[in-house]
Amino acid sequence: MQITRQSDVIVSVPYFTPTSEIKSFIEQKYDWIQKNIQRQKDEQDHAGEKLYISGQYFYYLGIPYPLEVFFRQNLPPGLVFWSNRFYLNCNDQQAKGKSYFIEWYKSKAGEYFPRRVDSLSNELRLQPRHIRITSAQTRWGSCSGENNLAFSFRLIMAPQAVIDYVIIHELMHIKEKNHSSQFWKLIETVMPEYKLHRHWLKAHGHKFIL
Ligand SMILES: [Zn+2]
Repeated sequence: MQITRQSDVIVSVPYFTPTSEIKSFIEQKYDWIQKNIQRQKDEQDHAGEKLYISGQYFYYLGIPYPLEVFFRQNLPPGLVFWSNRFYLNCNDQQAKGKSYFIEWYKSKAGEYFPRRVDSLSNELRLQPRHIRITSAQTRWGSCSGENNLAFSFRLIMAPQAVIDYVIIHELMHIKEKNHSSQFWKLIETVMPEYKLHRHWLKAHGHKFIL
């Protein structure tokens, strides 16, 4: 017996099983079916919303690291990343975990992006005016008419090659303000495999919503 994501119940039986027998089988299993449909609904309610509990994984530069949650009053509350693991000292992790992670990712993005933009902009000889870190959910980067660049802190969860693609993309807008074929040709000259990174972001970007 199987329950689909749409809460349909599928029963596999031999071909000649009488309908009455199938019905009584389902009646016997009624409690089990109800319990599983409810569990599935609970899981779907939490889909897309991260749980801040031990054993959950959080991405940093493309690599998932496990979280360990604990509560010690004599230690400072908050999030620490140490030896390939996140440690969250918090007494109400589901309420506060998210803001601790946002704070941590923002500070990492604040260190990483200016440094990487600087080195890529020197390589490409394209100088932005100013760099800003945003909290955008799906807009990974942008370049204003005045060549001010902005990057979502969430991008720090992506692999470095994907981050490079977004930075190169926004830097190239200093030269070309649109997404013309000329623009993509320029991207291709400096990053021949850029389509790979673009698709990666489209397929995996949803994992970076906290
Ligand atoms: Zn663009």
